[in-house]
Amino acid sequence: MWRCVSRGLRIPSKKYTDCDSLRRLFSTQSNVGGSSYTVVDHTYDAVVVGAGGAGLRAAIGLSEHGFNTACITKLFPTRSHTVAAQGGINAALGNMTEDDWRWHMYDTVKGSDWLGDQDAIQYMCREAPKAVIELENYGLPFSRTEDGKIYQRAFGGQSLNFGKGGQAYRCACAADRTGHALLHTLYGQAMKHNTQFFVEYFALDLLMGKDGSCQGVIALNMEDGTLHRFRAASTILATGGYGRAYFSATSAHTCTGDGNAMVARAGLPLEDLEFVQFHPTGIYGAGCLITEGSRGEGGILRNSEGERFMERYAPTAKDLASRDVVSRSMTMEIREGRGVGPLKDHIYLHLNHLPPEVLKERLPGISETAAIFAGVDVTKEPIPVLPTVHYNMGGIPTNHHGEVVTIKDDDPDAVIPGLLAAGEAACASVHGANRLGANSLLDIVVFGRACANWVAEVRRPGESQKPLEQDAGERTIAWLDDLRNSNGSLPTSNIRLNMQRIMQSNAAVFRTQETLEEGCQLIDEAWESFHDVKLKDRSLIWNSDLIETIELENLLINACITMHSAEARKESRGAHAREDFTKRDDENWMKHTLGYWKNEKVRLAYRPVHMNTLDDEVESFPPKARVY
Ligand SMILES: Cc1cc2nc3c(=O)[nH]c(=O)nc-3n(C[C@H](O)[C@H](O)[C@H](O)COP(=O)(O)OP(=O)(O)OC[C@H]3O[C@@H](n4cnc5c(N)ncnc54)[C@H](O)[C@@H]3O)c2cc1C
Repeated sequence: MWRCVSRGLRIPSKKYTDCDSLRRLFSTQSNVGGSSYTVVDHTYDAVVVGAGGAGLRAAIGLSEHGFNTACITKLFPTRSHTVAAQGGINAALGNMTEDDWRWHMYDTVKGSDWLGDQDAIQYMCREAPKAVIELENYGLPFSRTEDGKIYQRAFGGQSLNFGKGGQAYRCACAADRTGHALLHTLYGQAMKHNTQFFVEYFALDLLMGKDGSCQGVIALNMEDGTLHRFRAASTILATGGYGRAYFSATSAHTCTGDGNAMVARAGLPLEDLEFVQFHPTGIYGAGCLITEGSRGEGGILRNSEGERFMERYAPTAKDLASRDVVSRSMTMEIREGRGVGPLKDHIYLHLNHLPPEVLKERLPGISETAAIFAGVDVTKEPIPVLPTVHYNMGGIPTNHHGEVVTIKDDDPDAVIPGLLAAGEAACASVHGANRLGANSLLDIVVFGRACANWVAEVRRPGESQKPLEQDAGERTIAWLDDLRNSNGSLPTSNIRLNMQRIMQSNAAVFRTQETLEEGCQLIDEAWESFHDVKLKDRSLIWNSDLIETIELENLLINACITMHSAEARKESRGAHAREDFTKRDDENWMKHTLGYWKNEKVRLAYRPVHMNTLDDEVESFPPKARVY
């Protein structure tokens, strides 16, 4: 049984058709610029935006705690980008060698180049074994060792004994389709509970109270064009990353940073957006991912001279150095004329020395991907690869409970009441300046769950809620109406391509003051050009022209903040590598960037990194040089 809740009334009903009749009963008409919009009101204890790994895990937890929960998603849940994750999920289970969550924590702090918040990292790494066992109990079909334990592979940046014990085998996986297995498992669990899904609903904006609290969201039902105001005591954003701000990205076309932009439009900051991860091995040309697990299973990168060049750049970890290190090394090789192919503009990833059984059992998915997108038989030939945008370390700033934070009255950790965030959209910050492979699937389940647990700590199911502000959503409807009727001269796709090219060339693997200053100017112009956008489709029924245009606005906000944050940061740290400031500068820059979107301009502020741990189970790791 499910509930259709409207205007604060809780009415049990059995079928969707009942909801349709309720919708007519409880909807209002809003007239904007001559157009008429149907607005439907809902009240829930909690509303989760996003049904990827983070959103589903949050929704499951909330429902388990008895909260009447809505989950709004623009995609059918199992189409979320989590489904594409290949390599796996880290946890110090100790199935292959002895292991300790403190070693995992050390690696994560080091991987973050000391920009990660150590309290949040401690929380994540300590919870990791529990989170993975929970997934196993939910039914996730992990790959197994001979004796039936969860198999764990080597992954980049993972070591034993605080970097002194050699490579760790910490990445639990389901062959090279871990995200697929994880997302379907979580969706199955979510079905067991009373979560109400609103599928193919596009969240537009947060509904903020005059007191600065979050009261819910407003969303567009893409099927029929109705607008829906979801009032909730707790709103959890789990909308994923914004990889599509770049021209070449491994992320799905739907990764457009909508939640980030909703937060920015509400006047709240986004944290550390300058840190964009390039994955070393995107297929040259196509951009599809070849998992780091392929190097974890023994794959090797070679230049045009056949040299295993990573031995020069990272003598110990070699091909399994952290992603930022490998991506930079590949770029250096190409720049120095040792790239492969007719244009000498990419690198080869060799798997052809590995036993075919290993490829078949552990890497079946990427063998298929390489055949389709590169025309390569991995048992015989190398795969042409190039660093490709893969992950956003930055996002909506949160504490380790998932509560969204901002600077207020000199408090750098001030909580926004009613608003939480988890997953790639959030910045807890467990990845700091560089995320380690297989730490994101971990992040999404640990912090999705943390959000639910924290709501259970501070709220009660069925608690009374303040009414929405009188004008809640009005500005959003006016904005939507404007966009829908835009009659400029530039098609959405032109502006998007321009933005993607600017990001690709001006906020790249290596950056300089010159490229970044030019980038700021160009991206600001791209934003200006958005005022001249032209939509052809004016309807409200499955208007993909309109949805892509909203997504473009969201991407542009993320792109502008990324570029300006990068220009301001005069140091090299993690994925932010500056050729003119080659060193990490802890004295001036060990701080989180906060990027605000005010009157269509970027404004920057900074908040301190948490160097403290949660308790005395572990001591914090003081900064030191980061070598692999
Ligand atoms: C190809 C690839 C491989 C990867 N492999 C690994 C790996 O092996 N290990 C690892 O740890 N990490 C990996 N990552 C990273 C990791 O998969 C992602 O960071 C993570 O899955 C993101 O999960 P999420 O729940 O935050 O967001 P997503 O899975 O992206 O889900 C976002 C959700 O938000 C919803 N949404 C977005 N905007 C709106 C809106 N406006 N209105 C309503 N709903 C909205 C979408 O419908 C979707 O349900 C990989 C990433 C890629 C791209």
